[in-house]
Amino acid sequence: MLKLEQLEKTYRTGDKALTGIDLTVPDGQVLALIGPSGAGKSTLIRCINRLVEPTAGRVWLDDLELTRLSATGLRNARRQMGMIFQEYALVERLTVMENVLSGRLGYVGFWRSYLRRYPQADVDEAFRLLDRVGLLAMADKRADELSGGQRQRVGICRALIQNPKLLLVDEPTASLDPKTSRQIMRLICELCAERGLAAIINIHDVALAQRFVQRVVGLRAGSIAFDGAPDRLSPEV
Ligand code: ADP
Ligand code: ADP
Repeated sequence: MLKLEQLEKTYRTGDKALTGIDLTVPDGQVLALIGPSGAGKSTLIRCINRLVEPTAGRVWLDDLELTRLSATGLRNARRQMGMIFQEYALVERLTVMENVLSGRLGYVGFWRSYLRRYPQADVDEAFRLLDRVGLLAMADKRADELSGGQRQRVGICRALIQNPKLLLVDEPTASLDPKTSRQIMRLICELCAERGLAAIINIHDVALAQRFVQRVVGLRAGSIAFDGAPDRLSPEV
């Protein structure tokens, strides 16, 4: 279970991005985070794995208080949180396979030394994941040869290979056409269901959120303005 308690972020510029966020996400729940640009969605996602340092408040992942961890503790904890990005953040001149395997350490910095010794179990798992997302035939292609939708599938595999408890997904479809966006959202939600994985998906497209998730949290000016089933969302949110 993920729990945010009175989470706040004020940037050095003085921007109050989050004010007193309380939020609990049970195991296995997929939640869409919606709201206008600047509402704090991306900041909230990044405060959870501390890519952005919260100014105040606490974040818990099960029994672990993420906001109290030292650098080493944080590095280990980040392996339990897969992250999927809008712009995929693939290493362009590496192959699809290598990009997926780079997720095994949980953060990008060490991929080079790691790739000298691919443990067979990791390679097998990478093949299984690529097969699941329909990219098995592309394993040896370079990342820069792929379409946007294919890149995001690789990003999904890279996040899943660390076998995380939680997925943090930041605008996964913002660079994709509508049809590919639906495919990617469906894939993320199916994979979470198959693995009993919880996810927070920052998504600007309300219709997409409504179509695929059971819980929507609406942010406005750094606060939670809505939290409930998508069919209770009024059109003006
Ligand atoms: P922090 O207070 O978390 O250390 P900083 O103020 O150092 O954050 O800003 C981090 C980076 O974000 C800087 O490179 C800054 O230029 C950039 N940045 C500043 N203002 C904004 C903004 N309004 N939206 C997005 N990025 C911004
Ligand atoms: P959203 O993801 O909903 O568009 P953000 O979390 O990116 O919202 O931004 C929330 C607020 O924090 C905005 O006012 C934005 O300008 C500000 N902000 C975001 N990143 C930074 C940064 N690095 N430095 C300063 N201000 C930032």
